[in-house]
Amino acid sequence: MDTFGPPQRVLVRGEGAYVWDADGRRYLDLLAGIAVNALGHGHPTLTAAVSAQLGTLGHVSNFFATPTQIALAERLLQLAGAPEGSRVFFTNSGTEAVEAAFKMARRNRSGGPGGGTRTRMLALEGGFHGRSMGALALTAKAAYREPFEPLPGGVEHLPFGDTAALDEAFSAAAVAERGGVSALVLEPLQGEAGVRALPAGYLAHARRLTAAAGALLVLDEVQTGVGRTGSWFAFQQPEVGGGVVPDVVTVAKGLGGGFPVGAAIAFGERAATLLGRGQHGTTFGGNPVAAAAGLATLGVIERDGLLENARRVGDVLRTEIEAAGNPLVDGVRGRGLLLAVQLTRPVATEVASAALDAGFVVNAVAPDAIRLAPPLILTADQARDAARFFADVTVPDASAPDDRES
Ligand SMILES: *Cc1c(COP(=O)(O)O)cnc(C)c1O
Repeated sequence: MDTFGPPQRVLVRGEGAYVWDADGRRYLDLLAGIAVNALGHGHPTLTAAVSAQLGTLGHVSNFFATPTQIALAERLLQLAGAPEGSRVFFTNSGTEAVEAAFKMARRNRSGGPGGGTRTRMLALEGGFHGRSMGALALTAKAAYREPFEPLPGGVEHLPFGDTAALDEAFSAAAVAERGGVSALVLEPLQGEAGVRALPAGYLAHARRLTAAAGALLVLDEVQTGVGRTGSWFAFQQPEVGGGVVPDVVTVAKGLGGGFPVGAAIAFGERAATLLGRGQHGTTFGGNPVAAAAGLATLGVIERDGLLENARRVGDVLRTEIEAAGNPLVDGVRGRGLLLAVQLTRPVATEVASAALDAGFVVNAVAPDAIRLAPPLILTADQARDAARFFADVTVPDASAPDDRES
């Protein structure tokens, strides 16, 4: 189906941070399958782990446990700093991880303020949480939502980063009029909105309000998690999270290093027991091959110091692109290896297409912004190659007089 529009190239092979197209042309992959291929392409440790697991035990259904699945759950809880009683629900994608969180929120209904029910969920304008119906209800963008209405109800979208709006949503008047809040769902750094960071202090404020209301604080780290921003999870950076402990964290994209796997991590016993036996399920979720891919990816990130690499090489990318002073570039924002190059004109599509012609895969995340989410193995030299493209790129000004029309 034509849901993605025409493909830009046909890619046939990858190695490290590079991919090759069907004509044998090489590209430096600065998108990594949208923040997915954390270890780049064809990583030997990931390939060996997945192959060995498939050759040992590939799939068993969730009527059975496997050592690989248990090991990945325990590893995720440990890296997330989750307290005693925490649990993980495995999925195959980001949207399914968000669906699990959505259903947890629906189960957080009773015991609201004044003995009332919690019927409302809050999400932020600009937020992206996936394309299945629950996740879509949380996603703000009208063009994604409207063709599919009616969506699951009870979701309100608040202006991005606006603490006064947050206060209003939790106020006694709002609760009396519209009902209690079951969950606040947000990205610590909005990825699809063009890599936008919440203002300092916002998450800590959100934590205070949700805790007082008995609402879940759900952090959607599908894009920012697993080392992407230079820490295992973005909320763990004091400047981002302000030291908050969330109730639920969703992850997916980078977790399997390219193999589809996601998870909803529930922090503490209350969140971890909202979904009762029989209330949720998945056939493939958490299968041993996906779990092996997750374990291998986390293992290599740790072994090879890729969190530190993401911070260091991200700094190189940012500073070198900004230092080049191309009049088309207004600045670079983001953290680690999740960056957006802000352009001075709405020519992101033209810049992305020029990048491909020059041998770089990038993404026009907004009309005037380019997203960079390269593999966490990117080297400083490769970052400098990318920066040179941004130093030189030009796009003709469409408003300039055009000879052909005169
Ligand atoms: C990509 C993304 C999703 C959806 O993940 P899929 O695997 O595409 O379903 C959800 N939330 C965030 C923050 C994302 O970036």
